Amino acid sequence: MHTVYLSLGTNLGDKEQNLLSAITEIERRIGSIRAQSAFHATEPWGFESENTFLNAALRVETELAPLALLKETQQIERDMGRTQKSVKGKYHDRIIDIDILLYDDQHINTPQLTIPHPLMYERDFVLIPLKEILV
Ligand code: ADP
Ligand code: MG
Repeated sequence: MHTVYLSLGTNLGDKEQNLLSAITEIERRIGSIRAQSAFHATEPWGFESENTFLNAALRVETELAPLALLKETQQIERDMGRTQKSVKGKYHDRIIDIDILLYDDQHINTPQLTIPHPLMYERDFVLIPLKEILV
């Protein structure tokens, strides 16, 4: 079993429902949720939008290897209707974003996947929910 920390964000539609739907899918397809932060309302980071975000962090136990985990999180994003990908730091409004923050104590650096998530230490909207559940 592996312990992973995920960051969730949404700034479109019924944001609370989006987080709840993502959490249900994570439990179904990735593994057991061991801890869940509060939902935090935050301002957009890195781009201009009138749509504020709702963010949360989760601690999950999973059997999935890192790349298999990324595939599942991306499939959940697509199934929930996310269409645009961020490319080279260009961000967009999104129904759901699921980022992998930490995977056990592993360091991974591949074109598809960087763990720990490279920008997590700069982002209060990631760190504040994470601090609630980090052990
Ligand atoms: P962002 O989360 O920065 O808005 P996206 O969700 O569109 O951007 O993801 C862009 C790419 O980031 C994905 O295609 C994925 O391969 C890559 N990526 C690298 N490291 C991670 C990680 N730790 N968690 C999630 N995606 C990652
Ligand atoms: Mg993402």
